Amino acid sequence: MPLQLGIVVPCYNEEAVLPETVQRLLALLDRLNAAQLISADSQLYFVDDGSRDATWKLIEQFAATDARVHGVKLSRNRGHQNALLAGLFSARGDALVSIDADLQDDVETIEQMVRKHLNGADIVYGVRSSRASDTAFKRSSAEAYYRLLELLGVEIVYNHADYRLLSRRALEALGGFNEVNLFLRGIIPLLGFQTATVEYIREERFAGESKYPLRRMLGLAIEGVTSFSVTPLRLITGLGLIICGFSLLMIIWIILGKLLTDSVVPGWASSVIPIYFLGGVQLLSIGVLGEYIAKIYLETKRRPRYFIEKTI
Ligand code: UDP
Ligand code: MG
Repeated sequence: MPLQLGIVVPCYNEEAVLPETVQRLLALLDRLNAAQLISADSQLYFVDDGSRDATWKLIEQFAATDARVHGVKLSRNRGHQNALLAGLFSARGDALVSIDADLQDDVETIEQMVRKHLNGADIVYGVRSSRASDTAFKRSSAEAYYRLLELLGVEIVYNHADYRLLSRRALEALGGFNEVNLFLRGIIPLLGFQTATVEYIREERFAGESKYPLRRMLGLAIEGVTSFSVTPLRLITGLGLIICGFSLLMIIWIILGKLLTDSVVPGWASSVIPIYFLGGVQLLSIGVLGEYIAKIYLETKRRPRYFIEKTI
């Protein structure tokens, strides 16, 4: 029996691209079905992440005209990762592909993903072969960020966003991760299973504008570090130890200087600099601690990730 495929698309204010996205994905389902790669009851799932424009209306319209189109409406905006999870956990299918609504990820790559899955891969990562469509800032900050994560011991797939295929059992494994704030790009490599990658060229957004301003990107970046690594906490301890040792040596040096010579150093620099320096280190350290405490605070509440208002 051919594979039942589900494609999950999180949408936030995407009225400008949605008609094109639906049309291309339906055409893709037809083609893959004709090639006997997937079954005729493969489906599309559009998650409306509390959009304020006509996104849900459009989804309803498409669902009415084609039985393969489903809609999941969240009760309010919960962010890309949560919208994605809502879709993945509501969708049916032996394998699920997640893709953005804006057609930046080449939909045709899904065929290769399906083929790799049929060859045994439980997780297939879509990896961009070039970042030419990104601004120089986004490119260099992404590069630096991957380096940082690697340094901190977080396993991550380079140049992979949330365009991927998951088998049903990989998805079930994912369901076992209970943290409220899931950073999928960090969690999925922890699942294990057989993985594969397919390369594609990332295009410009087809229409509409990015919903990831710098503020949100930073939020996701901090999430990626603090969710997977306690290294920053350890670095603080190490830094504290080094500075303590250093100041001990300084004290000895000053005492010896006072005892053995009679030239007393005016001492302005040696007293003011450590005050500023330690002040900085302390504030930084408290900030890092605070970041983790905030995390504990948020996680202990065990708040639900999203509410589904209705589905079609
Ligand atoms: N998105 C979402 N909820 C949000 C923000 C974004 O569901 O709060 C969706 C958005 O509709 C798109 C995907 O997440 O399908 C990626 O967003 P976008 O293309 O704006 O990000 P970028 O590609 O600019 O990083
Ligand atoms: Mg995009």
